[in-house]
Amino acid sequence: MADKNVNNAIDLSDLGLDTITETETEFSIGAMVTLRQLELHEGLNTYTQNAIRQAVCDIVGVQFRNMATVGGSIFGRFGFSDVLTMFLTLDCDVELFQGGIVSLEQFSQMKPDNDILVRIIVKKTPGQFVYDSMRNTRTDFPVIACGVSCVNEEYRFSIGARPGKALLLRDEEHILKDGLTENNIRNMSKWVAAHTPTDSNLRGSAKYRTHLIDVFVQRNLIQLRGE
Ligand SMILES: Cc1cc2nc3c(=O)[nH]c(=O)nc-3n(C[C@H](O)[C@H](O)[C@H](O)COP(=O)(O)OP(=O)(O)OC[C@H]3O[C@@H](n4cnc5c(N)ncnc54)[C@H](O)[C@@H]3O)c2cc1C
Repeated sequence: MADKNVNNAIDLSDLGLDTITETETEFSIGAMVTLRQLELHEGLNTYTQNAIRQAVCDIVGVQFRNMATVGGSIFGRFGFSDVLTMFLTLDCDVELFQGGIVSLEQFSQMKPDNDILVRIIVKKTPGQFVYDSMRNTRTDFPVIACGVSCVNEEYRFSIGARPGKALLLRDEEHILKDGLTENNIRNMSKWVAAHTPTDSNLRGSAKYRTHLIDVFVQRNLIQLRGE
């Protein structure tokens, strides 16, 4: 429902980029892999303790997830993206046709250009992952998206739908250095909420989003602790 002109179209569908390859050390996810393939992939979901499934399962419906690609989702760097929010919690690189291999975190901050995302490389670095989002109705865009992980003993907090694009924070002040005690979890969630810029749109106010970040970081850390 727009009048944008497309001058060049590049079809990636015959390049064999529609598969997920798993080795002992990594997953190589082609740009044309669909969100449904992510949702159903046993290896990826075992490695992420089903966090990937949880991240994509409310995106519209199965027919839609059978078409939407991981390449389009990540390259778009959409503010509302559950996919970008989730992948930022992983030890993850993207392979660009011209730009080579860069970390997803770096890519997420780059300005959109005409490069092509070829694949996403997820390293099997030991870790724990939890993902959750708040939606006003189940298949709507998220009001807030929150991925929490502990990768190689480093805590990561990825907050999307702020409504700006996902932002990755780490425990810079070593609040969790003595473990996931009730007090540490509370202090950590308050710190993440205070350090994540939020804004208002028709789905929720900035203040509400900041409150949700506090709640979701707490819940996800409690789940990460194994409860
Ligand atoms: C109604 C609706 C609801 C949605 N809800 C959600 C939601 O709740 N959560 C969520 O995370 N997402 C949501 N999405 C986004 C969706 O999951 C897809 O990310 C999005 O539609 C992109 O789809 P696509 O893979 O067909 O990419 P396209 O639409 O084909 O591409 C998107 C953009 O990226 C470019 N592009 C595509 N592939 C590549 C590549 N390999 N290299 C370089 N550039 C590329 C295209 O040129 C285009 O500019 C929603 C989308 C719609 C339409």
